Amino acid sequence: MNENLKAVIMKKLDKTAENLRKNNFEAYVVQTSAEACELVKSLIKEGETISCGGSVTLSESGVMDIMKSGKYNFLDRSIANTQEEVEEIYRKAYSCDTYLCSSNAVTEKGELYNVDGNSNRVSAICYGPKSVIMICGYNKVVRDLDEAIVRVKTVSAPANCLRLDCKTYCHEKGSCVSLENGGDMPSGCGSDGRVCCNYVVSARQRHKGRIKVILVAEELGY
Ligand code: SF4
Repeated sequence: MNENLKAVIMKKLDKTAENLRKNNFEAYVVQTSAEACELVKSLIKEGETISCGGSVTLSESGVMDIMKSGKYNFLDRSIANTQEEVEEIYRKAYSCDTYLCSSNAVTEKGELYNVDGNSNRVSAICYGPKSVIMICGYNKVVRDLDEAIVRVKTVSAPANCLRLDCKTYCHEKGSCVSLENGGDMPSGCGSDGRVCCNYVVSARQRHKGRIKVILVAEELGY
């Protein structure tokens, strides 16, 4: 990446981290995925029970390899054989030591914005796991909640619908049907495969440091 562009991105990430800390999140800024991985290793003790939400970022950053290293008791739904087993893992994840995921958007004001269909991820972010670690590429940082809402409707949701093969309007057209009528947060399609069912804004936290946000100066996930 061009040095000047990198410097601009780092300033934005530093400002975002500062505002996240004001809201009782623990926030870190790193330049590379490799640094993010080292940080993740320092935040999880060997032998801990860990789990994660569905996340392209975890795979792209290398964090998923750490999770699968055998050093942790990883509640891994990708090795479940039946839907019942998957659901059992979802429920066990609520009492794990550390939950790893990304955020659909992080505002420069220090808020997190997440939208889920199944909602195992947003519910674990809100309550349950003792610690939550989020890895977020700079592409997830937006100015405010209005931009976060648009980001999900034009990037996260359409890309996830393609990844998961959900037959929604945005799967076909590339953005949410609600944008044709103002695009307010909860409006969307009537598809059974809709991935936007619960909309969670994480503002100032009561449990200081429970959620750790690692901002990475690389493009990761969507
Ligand atoms: S509500 Fe439907 S069309 Fe809109 S972004 Fe979500 S899944 Fe896509």
